Amino acid sequence: MPGQAVIEREPLRHGIRVAYRPGQRKWVGWQDHPYGGYGCCVARRDEIVAFLDDHLDAGGYPDALPVGLQVIGAEEVRRVATGVSASLELFERAAAEGAQMLIVHHGLFWSSEPRRIGARERARLRCLFEHDLSLVAYHLALDAHPEVGNNALICRALGLTGPVGFGVHGDRTIGFLAIANPPITLPELLGRVRAEINPEPLVFDAGPEAIRRVAVISGAAAQDVLPAADAGAHCFLTGEPREPVMAQAREAGIHFVAAGHYATEVFGVRALGDLLARRFGVEHVFIDVPNPI
Ligand SMILES: [Zn+2]
Repeated sequence: MPGQAVIEREPLRHGIRVAYRPGQRKWVGWQDHPYGGYGCCVARRDEIVAFLDDHLDAGGYPDALPVGLQVIGAEEVRRVATGVSASLELFERAAAEGAQMLIVHHGLFWSSEPRRIGARERARLRCLFEHDLSLVAYHLALDAHPEVGNNALICRALGLTGPVGFGVHGDRTIGFLAIANPPITLPELLGRVRAEINPEPLVFDAGPEAIRRVAVISGAAAQDVLPAADAGAHCFLTGEPREPVMAQAREAGIHFVAAGHYATEVFGVRALGDLLARRFGVEHVFIDVPNPI
């Protein structure tokens, strides 16, 4: 094509050929496609999903919703949107962003929800269908993953090291017990929490002055405060509190921090989108639908 001379071409990388155009800094993709042509990188939906299923070991966790591809959309993906929780607002905003795939942490079809497609479910599905938007969900596997999981990324953001698995679900762990080296005080730890996760965490300061070990499980895991204390943690950080946790923390002598269910679960999906952008060359946009819970 005139003006679009290719000076270099890489071999097929996950179904994408990448090429570099003179005077243009961005890599552009050439898709083996009936229509051919140049544009941003295009990846196949099924290759992205197969990669994520495998990378996250998505089938290895006892989950309460179908994981991976939940609703099928366009076969080719140029732009991936990510967000924490399935909702009509998130679907509409992903469609407005021009995404062909939306990846969420909290998807549809929870086992605790009714199976009927009522008006609310119909509106959500209609939005996905009308915009040919695939919905992909990863839940516990995305809490647990040691690189792109919510809990590993929270440990890293808080400066904690040496994470070992904590928080048993089935025969897997989804959280981490990590080290503060050197030990830190609760005000120091909360300074990091406010900067990296949530400016207004709920805190019960019932633990020791020097915090050496912190247990982390994103989302709704307040029930794990006692196992955290038993495992030797001086502080337990999760997303949501629950009523009994104040007395449990005080009696067990452990600090408790609830930094928000939503706020503790933006990390994983956002990292997944960035990973896909690097690996497949697709565009990634994270869609924030802030939730104070
Ligand atoms: Zn959650």
